[in-house]
Amino acid sequence: MTASRARRIAVRRSAVHGRGVFALRDIPADARIIQYRGDVLTWELAQIRYEEPADCVEGHTFFFDRGDGTVIDGGSNGNSARYINHGCDPNCEAFEHAGRVYIYAAREILAGTELLLDYQLQLDDPRDPELRRPYGCSCGAVSCRSTMLAP
Ligand SMILES: [Zn+2]
Repeated sequence: MTASRARRIAVRRSAVHGRGVFALRDIPADARIIQYRGDVLTWELAQIRYEEPADCVEGHTFFFDRGDGTVIDGGSNGNSARYINHGCDPNCEAFEHAGRVYIYAAREILAGTELLLDYQLQLDDPRDPELRRPYGCSCGAVSCRSTMLAP
C-alpha cells in the first residue's frame, strides 16, 4: 500500500438512499477509486434471484448494469462500491477494463461529498410503467430525470 492508496472512501448513511459512499479526502478528477465487485449475472437470473418485490427494491441498487445484458450483483461477493448511489448529476463514472468494472472520479470530488453514479439501467420493456416504478429517482439534482433508467 502506497500513501496514495490510503483509505479515501467510507460507507455512511446517505440523504439520497439508505447508505452511500463518501469521500474521506479530496479525490482528483480521473482517479480510479474502486473496483465494482460482485457476481456477474444475466438480467434474467438477477431478476429471479431477487424475485420478491421488497428484495427487488433493495436489490436493484446493488446491480451494476454492464450494458450487454449482464449485471454485476454487488449484493453477492461485492464490496463497498455497491453502496454508491445513483445520481442524475454524477461525480463518478464507471469504465470496464479487461472484464472488470472500475469506478473513476468524473471530476474532482471534495472530502465529505457523496459519490454518485448514473446507473443508466436498461429494461427489456422500458415503457412498461410497472417495470419502471421501482427505479424512480429523487436525487435532488437540477438535472434529475426522475428515473435511474437510461434516458
Ligand atoms: Zn435524479
